[in-house]
Amino acid sequence: MPTGIDVSVASVARVYDYLLGGKDNFKVDRDTADAMLAIDPSSRAMTINNRRFLQRAVRTLAQEYGITQFLDHGSGLPTQDNVHQIAQSVHPEARVVYVDNDPIVLAHGRALLADNASTTVISADVRDTDALMAHPDVVKLLDFDRPVGALFVSLLHSIPDRDDPGALLRRVVDRLAPGSFIAVSHLVSLDAEIREQRTAFALEAHAGQWGRVRTPEEVTAFIESAGVDILAPGLCEVSQWRPDGSDGPVQESTDWFEFGGVARKDPHCFCRGFGGEGQV
Ligand code: SAM
Repeated sequence: MPTGIDVSVASVARVYDYLLGGKDNFKVDRDTADAMLAIDPSSRAMTINNRRFLQRAVRTLAQEYGITQFLDHGSGLPTQDNVHQIAQSVHPEARVVYVDNDPIVLAHGRALLADNASTTVISADVRDTDALMAHPDVVKLLDFDRPVGALFVSLLHSIPDRDDPGALLRRVVDRLAPGSFIAVSHLVSLDAEIREQRTAFALEAHAGQWGRVRTPEEVTAFIESAGVDILAPGLCEVSQWRPDGSDGPVQESTDWFEFGGVARKDPHCFCRGFGGEGQV
């Protein structure tokens, strides 16, 4: 087993892998996922739909907006149709950096990417934007003078309020070239009691290493505060984001759901490094 892997506490990456039908998980992860499914059986459909959203967002950015560089924050374990496979099916030269702080992601990612020179996986905490952007593999593969697709899919609910997920988005967007994009999804609920219960469940399951189920309004505020233009159809339950006929299973209950969309940093903006000021 790769070093640093703790099989006594459920990991977000491994629980997610199990819900997607993957094999890179342990009993503690399966027990956690099964307990979550007992509370809300629609959680598996929600997870599958989130993954399909990620895939549609990457395909859209590559095909419709010519994006050839992706920085995937909180990438999770490799599964089918990963970001680099979709991006490189459109642009064979596309470059992808996967970032995750779970050691199992690094171990499995390295094995998958051993012979792909345009793609890498790094172990880093997304909260440390300066260290992430200065990482030698990031500097080597991505050109921040050109547009990048920065992905934050099913990630920001893992970031507690004290680490300010909105500020994290703003820091990254400030460093991206005009014409770059962000894709975001986040677990939300319209019901305060459900938000509280499921947050408590996840905090306990992940030994306090988690954030919060938030409201759609909170997630909208994070994205809007980054000074980006939200693409049609706007922010929504993610299976509604530009469906293309490859829909996942219907999420029967929407007690909680993944909420998000895609937004662009103004291609005519000369605001890099100036905190979002100076748009023309
Ligand atoms: N983005 C993928 C997707 O949507 O299919 C995977 C989502 S998975 C639910 C969230 C991932 O974020 C996990 O692999 C977890 O390890 C990672 N993660 C959570 N907090 C992180 C942090 N502070 N730094 C880096 N990765 C983090």
